[in-house]
Amino acid sequence: MPPLARLPLNDGHSLPALGFGLWQVPAPDTADVVDQALGLGYRLIDGAAIYGNEEGLGEGLRRSGLPRDDVFVTTKCWNTDQGYDAALRAFDASLARSGLDRVDLYLIHWPCPQRDLFVETWRALIRLRDEGRATSIGVSNFHAPHLERLVAETGVTPAVNQIELHPRLQQAALRETNRRLGIVTQSWSPLGQGRSFDDPVIRAIAARLGRSPAQVILRWHLQIGCSVIPRSTRRDGLAENLALSDFALTAGDLAAIATLDAGERTGPDPDRFA
Ligand code: NAD
Repeated sequence: MPPLARLPLNDGHSLPALGFGLWQVPAPDTADVVDQALGLGYRLIDGAAIYGNEEGLGEGLRRSGLPRDDVFVTTKCWNTDQGYDAALRAFDASLARSGLDRVDLYLIHWPCPQRDLFVETWRALIRLRDEGRATSIGVSNFHAPHLERLVAETGVTPAVNQIELHPRLQQAALRETNRRLGIVTQSWSPLGQGRSFDDPVIRAIAARLGRSPAQVILRWHLQIGCSVIPRSTRRDGLAENLALSDFALTAGDLAAIATLDAGERTGPDPDRFA
């Protein structure tokens, strides 16, 4: 799958397979990073209210000069903004900060099952979608029981489930649940924040193909059918992560990478994170 190919969503829309993430991008640098990434050819920006840089996201998009409809913008409802009214207010605040009049994808950032507000929050997102202010709606860090509750109680299936996914946390069961429900899996921390760069299996494939470990890992995400949103603030890193279309992993490479799963998270466990 070419990185700028689009993956169909279950609501009739689509999203670019590859984008870039804004977590931990300092607010004062964000507009430059966004403008630079869009200039290199990225068309999907992964933001979130909690990243504290939605102003820069909007500013960078405007600075790029690209038509709004050419760029896919995601942002997310933070945990303390869950609940029907609170989520609607949080969405308005995100739009106000970014200066946009709609987003392409609005996600519930974490299920926070102990608070038991995610179904109510989902009802707010359905309203935002019906009003056309969020073109598509989805979730992040949701496990099978959380997804199944949303569907059972509202009849609306998320378009996307953005989850931690990298060679050391391959999430085969959750990917299968997403696939069965018609939900696109999007990989966060797709590079595992660098943890597999020195892995001998990754290094051997990278050496054979004449690519970097990061490129091998990102290509793996695309070939297992995931959308992927690596983060780099450096121009050469952004360019490297986009250059994935002129090589492919073999079935043997995919099988070798499959052995690297260690069930190892870099972030919190969604069942417990509140
Ligand atoms: P990542 O796996 O993308 O790794 C980022 C690190 O790898 C950075 O230190 C970066 O400098 C380095 N890197 C990037 N490209 C490289 C290259 N080509 N060569 C060498 N090093 C390279 O980690 P991440 O930022 O944690 O995740 C990516 C995005 O996922 C975030 O920016 C954010 O948008 C999203 N995310 C979402 C959630 C969620 O809960 N939904 C949580 C974490 C991250």
